Amino acid sequence: MTDDTRAEALPSWLEASLIALLGLRQSLPHALLIQGPRGIGKGLLARHFAQSLLCESPLPDGRACARCDACGWFAAGNHPDFRQVSPLADEESGGERAERSRSERARPEIKIDQIRALAGFVGVGGHRAGRKPVVIDPADGLNLPAANALLKTLEEPSGETVFLLVAAQGAAVAPTVRSRCVPWTVPAPSADLARDWLGARLGSEQAARAADWLALADGAPLRALALAEPGAAAAHRLLLQAVQEIPETGAMRIAEGFGSQAAPLWVPLLQSWVSDLARVLAGAPAQRYPGQQAVLRRLAQRTRLHTVTAFATWLDQQARVSSHPLNARLYAEDLWLRYEALFAR
Ligand SMILES: [Zn+2]
Repeated sequence: MTDDTRAEALPSWLEASLIALLGLRQSLPHALLIQGPRGIGKGLLARHFAQSLLCESPLPDGRACARCDACGWFAAGNHPDFRQVSPLADEESGGERAERSRSERARPEIKIDQIRALAGFVGVGGHRAGRKPVVIDPADGLNLPAANALLKTLEEPSGETVFLLVAAQGAAVAPTVRSRCVPWTVPAPSADLARDWLGARLGSEQAARAADWLALADGAPLRALALAEPGAAAAHRLLLQAVQEIPETGAMRIAEGFGSQAAPLWVPLLQSWVSDLARVLAGAPAQRYPGQQAVLRRLAQRTRLHTVTAFATWLDQQARVSSHPLNARLYAEDLWLRYEALFAR
């Protein structure tokens, strides 16, 4: 994700935030915590801000020129005065994996070695004359040792380094880290801006579905775009079929189809479905699946609110501890059997 978003254009709803951030240039805090709803482009904003700080001939309003050497290096991902720290994909060692008592892996984290690796960068002067931005995205992905290691750097500001921490939930960032950052909140885009942006991205055939994807993404356009990508969209189709058929078809047959699906693609969709089912049971309209209101009403007649909310709570906890179960088939069976049980007589 990092590589292809680095040079991506800034969505229009983030322009005002970028200009406002650039207004801080003369008195820039040592560390900013950029927070706001998930999937609205906070990471993109942080990178555009970082590029603007590095640019050697910025535009009058402070934005990056996209033409100078510094902008070229940044776009190529090799500016010597810039670092981005994000969870590494699947680098857990065999030993670490064996140590786990549960047959599953936790969600990706930023680890202490990644923060220690910044020491050389933070400790020496920049290669060029300007600032040295470090983007940490997502900052709530820092595990505890990593957060503690970062603390030392945040406590002893060094030179021109500027930390830009990005988090959907500022409250999920370690309090010791959070308290040393200046909070910066990015607002969500208006529904019109979000729909126009997504519609343009999806192309003419899919544009009509922009509203559906946005509903599922709580109005966050980048998250909606990710949901509309072919792999995620296929998981979505499968899920819609499953939730409608299960009371009749039974969970075991349905689970088969999910054995080959990555849990992070479909479990959040099931969480959203269950949350909408609870809403309908409580007399509220569906929020994430407004087009499925009739199905949700039909299912609601076969279950009870407290049963559904108990399952929703269990599912949320489950999704937090296990984003990549080792045995996808068993994991799917377990979840779908529990879903089926919601409608037991
Ligand atoms: Zn430039």
